[in-house]
Amino acid sequence: MPEIFINGQSVQAERNQNVLDAALAAGIELPYFCWHPELSIAGNCRVCAVQVEGRSWVEIACNMPATEGLRVQTDTELVNEYRKSVLQLLTLNHPVDCGICDKAGECKLQDFHYQYNGSPSISVDPKVRATKFFPLSERIILDNERCILCSRCVRFTHEISRSKALGIKQRGGASLVRPTEDGSFDSDVYSDNVIDICPVGALL
Ligand code: SF4
Repeated sequence: MPEIFINGQSVQAERNQNVLDAALAAGIELPYFCWHPELSIAGNCRVCAVQVEGRSWVEIACNMPATEGLRVQTDTELVNEYRKSVLQLLTLNHPVDCGICDKAGECKLQDFHYQYNGSPSISVDPKVRATKFFPLSERIILDNERCILCSRCVRFTHEISRSKALGIKQRGGASLVRPTEDGSFDSDVYSDNVIDICPVGALL
């Protein structure tokens, strides 16, 4: 079992474990949206970034193998600046409609925004509008303005339920989670689970 050091604290990691997983198992808090212990690593939310001692840049902890002797810092000035910028980006086009959101009070975006950003949006441009009530299936509605494109729901249908019924179409600010046109999300008997693994209130 490799021994790593997080903020100087010795942590015994599991074989083939990543730094994020090892930190959480040791009770060390790190923010994350896209990572999930039962899903593949996407590394697209970037918020779990840490700094390896001696390096002048940050790297994501979910895709960093916990190798013997590795030393990382989770709360340097660089890490906190980077996390703040990630939260600013993720909330750039978010409607911030927490007052009417079912997930308010248990939303990771809300929690991490206050923990690592807490400032009003720095953008002077109007938010990009997207579909508010898109029916993914007969039972599940997607609010694309709340979606942070973590891809957890997409990976769930590819890796767990195996229906491959969800994907992300378009690119950049136009990206949208959408179901395949054959209606296979409707017949995916595990599909309702995506509501629980969505880290924000985008799936209803
Ligand atoms: Fe992630 Fe939720 Fe958007 Fe799916 S709907 S990509 S789980 S934020």
